[in-house]
Amino acid sequence: MSKYWSDMVKRTDPYKPGEQLNNPRIIKLNTNENPYEPSPSVKKAIVDEMDSRLQLYPSPTADGLRSTIAGALNVSMEEVFVGNGSDEVLAFSFMAFFQPGKTIRFPSITYSFYPVYSKLFAIPYEQVALNDDFTIDGEALFGSEGGVILPNPNAPTSIYEDLSSIERIIENNPDTVVIIDEAYIDFAGPSAVELIHKYDNLLVIQTTSKSRSLAGMRVGYAIGNRNLIEALTRIKDSFNSYTVDRLAMVAAKAAFEDKAHLQETVGKIKATRDWTVHELEQLRFDVLPSSANFLFATHQSVKAVDLYDYLKKEGILVRHFNSPRIDNYLRISIGTDEQMRVLVEKIGKYV
Ligand code: PMP
Repeated sequence: MSKYWSDMVKRTDPYKPGEQLNNPRIIKLNTNENPYEPSPSVKKAIVDEMDSRLQLYPSPTADGLRSTIAGALNVSMEEVFVGNGSDEVLAFSFMAFFQPGKTIRFPSITYSFYPVYSKLFAIPYEQVALNDDFTIDGEALFGSEGGVILPNPNAPTSIYEDLSSIERIIENNPDTVVIIDEAYIDFAGPSAVELIHKYDNLLVIQTTSKSRSLAGMRVGYAIGNRNLIEALTRIKDSFNSYTVDRLAMVAAKAAFEDKAHLQETVGKIKATRDWTVHELEQLRFDVLPSSANFLFATHQSVKAVDLYDYLKKEGILVRHFNSPRIDNYLRISIGTDEQMRVLVEKIGKYV
């Protein structure tokens, strides 16, 4: 092995995804999937597409899907990029906008993929501590050398930062790209997409995996100034121009077209979220204020890792991070009402 590659292997600590178990009886609340199926029109679109077109390559420019997304978000098609899940869009963005030798910044408690990509692409990074209440310290992200990335709402904290704070971070990084990862934005307040015409250094990344129930199809997208989108397209075409397959494309398009289904399922998840927070607080949990489809909670006297083990034995999977400051918290995805009722009942027996 050449020296460069052996060093790369040493510095790269691959991302460890949440467990995906085959047992369908498990109540799976560990990877922030949507408990509801996608819009019925998604299945129909997939079946129609399967009739005779699978032998043909998909459109490399994904025009149909990009124009649907553009229409839904009030931007133009040239301001939209699509990829194989937002994880791929994030990877392309790290390659396109961040560079070795220039330190980027992101919050210390955040999506664990960011340090993985930074190490992989040899991009130095600084992890900026969160405030005591787990909100993001915006000013600490001002004036970065190489760029900024943060999720809004943040994960795993579930906290949403107002658009005015996000705007100040963008304004105070005029010479670098600021990436706002909005995987959970449909469960929260307004999106930063409305700022892309004001700031040409802003890239917003979203996904169909959460609010639109399409985690299994892998479709994510970025919205930003057309020069940023052009840069992403160059990266994509240099690897594999066909990053989104035919079935994923028609599925995502159908999901975007069914606004009523989105509103209904997001509404149900938010109501279940509020109910679960109330019940957990009764059981003496402190729950961070959630604007996402998951909760981040700590119990006043029970150790998180013990509760995690107990729940797993009882057939409920949640997420525990063995990291400083959050090792006594559990991240719990919002499932159906029935799943959350079982969760609360089991926890009630333990604490
Ligand atoms: N960003 C954040 C903050 C996430 O939590 C996730 C989901 N794990 C993603 C991006 C990636 O989602 P996907 O690749 O399914 O679009």
